[in-house]
Amino acid sequence: MKLSSLVTLLFAVATLTPLACKSSKPTSDNADAVDSSRLCRVTFDGDSAMNYARAQCDFGPRIPNSAALKKCGDYIVGRFKALGLTVTEQRTTVTGWDGKQLGCRNIIAAFHPERKDRVVIAAHYDSRPWAEKDADSSRHHTPVMAADDGASGVAVLLEVARHLTELNPKIGVDLVCFDAEDYGAPYWAPENKRDDESTFCLGSQYWSKQLAADYKPRYGILLDMVGGKDNRFYFEGFSLRYAQPVVTKVWD
Ligand SMILES: [Zn+2]
Repeated sequence: MKLSSLVTLLFAVATLTPLACKSSKPTSDNADAVDSSRLCRVTFDGDSAMNYARAQCDFGPRIPNSAALKKCGDYIVGRFKALGLTVTEQRTTVTGWDGKQLGCRNIIAAFHPERKDRVVIAAHYDSRPWAEKDADSSRHHTPVMAADDGASGVAVLLEVARHLTELNPKIGVDLVCFDAEDYGAPYWAPENKRDDESTFCLGSQYWSKQLAADYKPRYGILLDMVGGKDNRFYFEGFSLRYAQPVVTKVWD
């Protein structure tokens, strides 16, 4: 994960101020201001999220250009549609650090796509093809299952999607599942590629270049590796540097 390390709290998603329920009303002209006593008490169901993660892993490692990745993408699209969101599949081909052409499908599920005032919550659904940090070096060239580093973030997005209608925020929400994020150069890559972080996050790099000029979400939160046992979530360095007010809002 590297560039995709803009990690935030799993439960923080459900407590973001903009995700206030219908009865919440601004107490001033400030759109951020809501009557917190009237926020919906929507319960984030960890078991449900776990089932979403398990369903992704049941396809096997979701590495680029694999049948498992295609099936997993189809599953995610199907779930978002079933939950009533408007789904866009952003397809392209990207080039890996090794020169391989990789099919790439970013999945964008929009809640109230017509609203200009929006937030983005994102994750990635591809698996890293190489477990190069495994203690057993014989496994370094085999894919990771990516239950945590991949599936857990998407599972949270699906669980959030399941509650969006009930939460009924006054703003639009884009739940974005990136593809081809974890294909970054491993330690055996040529020296000029090995430390090049731009070899990661190919799907989100493409997504960022396609954004319409008038697409101005308030902010985005990326969830990655949010399913580990006894996880603790600390302030994330890049987020603190570039989006300190958002970090404060999420962690408070
Ligand atoms: Zn990751």
